[in-house]
Amino acid sequence: MSNRYKIGIIRGDGIGPEIIEEAIKVLDAVSVNEGFTLKYEEMLLGGVAIDETGVPLPDETIKGVKKCDAVLFGAIGGPKWDNLARHLRPESGLLGIRKAMGTFANLRPAIVYDELINASSLKPEIIKGVDIMVVRELTGGIYFGEPRELQKDQAFNTMIYTREEVERIAVVAFDIAMQRDKRICSVDKANVLEVSQFWRETVEEISKGYPEVELSHMYVDNAAMQLIREPKQFDVILTGNIFGDILSDAASMLSGSIGLLPSASTGNSVGLYEPIHGSAPDIAGQGIANPLATISSASMMLRYALGEEKAANRIDDAIRKALKQGYRTGDIGDFDAVEIVSCAQMGDIVAKYASK
Ligand code: NAD
Repeated sequence: MSNRYKIGIIRGDGIGPEIIEEAIKVLDAVSVNEGFTLKYEEMLLGGVAIDETGVPLPDETIKGVKKCDAVLFGAIGGPKWDNLARHLRPESGLLGIRKAMGTFANLRPAIVYDELINASSLKPEIIKGVDIMVVRELTGGIYFGEPRELQKDQAFNTMIYTREEVERIAVVAFDIAMQRDKRICSVDKANVLEVSQFWRETVEEISKGYPEVELSHMYVDNAAMQLIREPKQFDVILTGNIFGDILSDAASMLSGSIGLLPSASTGNSVGLYEPIHGSAPDIAGQGIANPLATISSASMMLRYALGEEKAANRIDDAIRKALKQGYRTGDIGDFDAVEIVSCAQMGDIVAKYASK
């Protein structure tokens, strides 16, 4: 009997529904060919959930995701909801679902496609062959630390990491490094922050269990510089929540467009697979969004959550082929385009190549 998987689908706001539609198209194409079945279950999160239920993260969504094998997510947010109180905004729904799913590890590959080497603002010789995996801690650190408060004349947040939080994200990073070039650079601010000193010592302890992996440490300000100066020096970057948020965005620009890069948020159970970009309200509804980051996220989902490696490879190859043939959405249209295509056309092309 063929494998059957239940996939949670969260379209969200802005371009979310458009890009998810294309990812589903591609998933359907490969699942037929690789002989497994995907059953989709739609759930609400973000602005659309606020409009329909009054809260950004309805209880049904929390219950629903836990019954899935994996969740594919578009993006949330938009100006319509920007003036709501912080805990009622779409973004708090996203933080909340990550916390509820226990997805403490965020994996963000930064890959430079040879076909788009001119899309980057950096010189081709600096970025050719870049293949970095940023492993970011996602459910701890300053974004979640208590106490936190906005007062009239001051405000504060708390940066806190427990041993368990650092150990489990370090294990994820070391396991991934073992499948790659076996090099980890752990990024912190240990010259200033006690929490970073603790992070560094804990990562050192975990490294003793991985003698084959070469571990180095770097301060976050230097890491930001080195990512731009000589990105090829990195294999796996391991870092905390706020530093990872910033560094993974910087790393993403090595590839030239935010519309290309996927991410996976994993933990002990169900994982959340999503593009790194937001809901792009400026282009929503125009049919011009780049769906490749979401399609790539679907590929990561097949690989990491479902173990359908062959189907994932089919998608990755199909994306490369579409780019090689010169198909480009508008955001990457200036770079060796043969034809500028819409969001839906790009989905059709990748689905066609992936099903051959
Ligand atoms: P954004 O990533 O949505 O957009 C930044 C720029 O990149 C825009 O010019 C946009 O048009 C472009 N862009 C993004 N994705 C694209 C794609 N697939 N194809 C083509 N162009 C693309 O970031 P922002 O403008 O800072 O935020 C917009 C909204 O998204 C905000 O409400 C923000 O809170 C939210 N947001 C959500 C997430 C998420 O859901 N994970 C992440 C970041 C921001």
